[in-house]
Amino acid sequence: MQKAYLLTLGCPKNEADSDAFAGCLKKAGWGITGSIENSDLLLINTCAFIKPAVDESLEVIGEALDWKNERPERVLILAGCLPGRYPQDDSGGLEGFDLVIGPGDTARLEEYLLLSSASSPEPAGGRISRYLKISEGCSNNCSYCTIPLIRGARRDRTPESILMDAHHLAQQGAVEIGIVGQDTASWKCGKDSVSWLISQLAGTYPDIWFRLYYIHPAYYPDDFLALLAEHENVMPYVDMPVQHVSDRILKRMGRPYTGDHLRKLFDEFEGYDGMLSVRTTLIAGYPGETEEDFDELIEFLSQYRCIRTIAAFPYWPEEGTREYSRHSSEDIPDAGAVQSRLSRIGDSADEHNIIWADRLDGEVMDVLADTPLLGHSRLDAPEVDGACCFDRSVVPGRIIRCRIAGGTGSDLNAEVLI
Ligand code: SF4
Repeated sequence: MQKAYLLTLGCPKNEADSDAFAGCLKKAGWGITGSIENSDLLLINTCAFIKPAVDESLEVIGEALDWKNERPERVLILAGCLPGRYPQDDSGGLEGFDLVIGPGDTARLEEYLLLSSASSPEPAGGRISRYLKISEGCSNNCSYCTIPLIRGARRDRTPESILMDAHHLAQQGAVEIGIVGQDTASWKCGKDSVSWLISQLAGTYPDIWFRLYYIHPAYYPDDFLALLAEHENVMPYVDMPVQHVSDRILKRMGRPYTGDHLRKLFDEFEGYDGMLSVRTTLIAGYPGETEEDFDELIEFLSQYRCIRTIAAFPYWPEEGTREYSRHSSEDIPDAGAVQSRLSRIGDSADEHNIIWADRLDGEVMDVLADTPLLGHSRLDAPEVDGACCFDRSVVPGRIIRCRIAGGTGSDLNAEVLI
């Protein structure tokens, strides 16, 4: 059987696209392998959200072209945001690929595979944590972001097609399903909201953990905490990229909420009756950001112990965005100031890690085993947040009852109880 290797760059949203690409490959009779050396087809699902992601994609492309040059009969496919962002690339950089397709373009992949050789289908395997995309694109048009340019306006998938995909993931052995999309909180079908959708999924698959990603603060569903209280298998986890808290900067970013709106939401999270963790992302050094704006952000972070994970990025001027065409170089804080702001956010993240390790010390909780020695708790997303390190080997894919025994950084030590 011919084997395909899928390489996913960037965020969990790309994982959902890769799952769809893997589905097309399997349908066409390709096996999926975890070894690039043994593969006959390499599909690279790229990210081009910001410049470092573009750079990483270009580096991987260089290596992939070398791989192809060694044995030119192998198939090399480039997919995702990079060709989506530069569809008219005439630099020659995308030459050497057998197929170049945009984000989530399964139709073109299927068409290509139909015309190429196929062998017998692979039996269902199954990764432990999977991702389910409920919408494509974004209509928010934040001033700094290229996603709406690359992926277009938001299109919500129907509940039927989402439930169908969830069924396939469950059949393949998924133990956790992450609900992804550029703006998941805005998902709608008639009067039904994303909370309704998750409640359907959680009710249909009570043994699967569901985790909602990328909740835009302006569209946070009011009934989300009630949903958590009602469904034990919806993770007590709020992934909310606030980006900033200064009203001036939020306005300039084109984010339609205020610092007070965020304080109201975070007060609610803080008051949740039970353990709840918040992951957030921030941009440091946004054009026009002053020391006062930044101090306000740091003050905000220090107020909320529910914040468990903080990811911070420097501002990148991205061609084609509103901010790119309007800011002058004087607007951008100098590199030294940006570095020092990022390091202050890092200090704040360290403080939150210490608070959480202390808070969780001695707690008995369920941990999903990703490997024999590593897993993730209900409070942490796989791959991007802290891990739990087991004190003895367990079976991957099982939910393990553990007692937490402190931690290091964002990782926790877990004593296996059963
Ligand atoms: S919400 Fe804003 S930052 Fe997020 S994908 Fe949409 S436009 Fe980009």
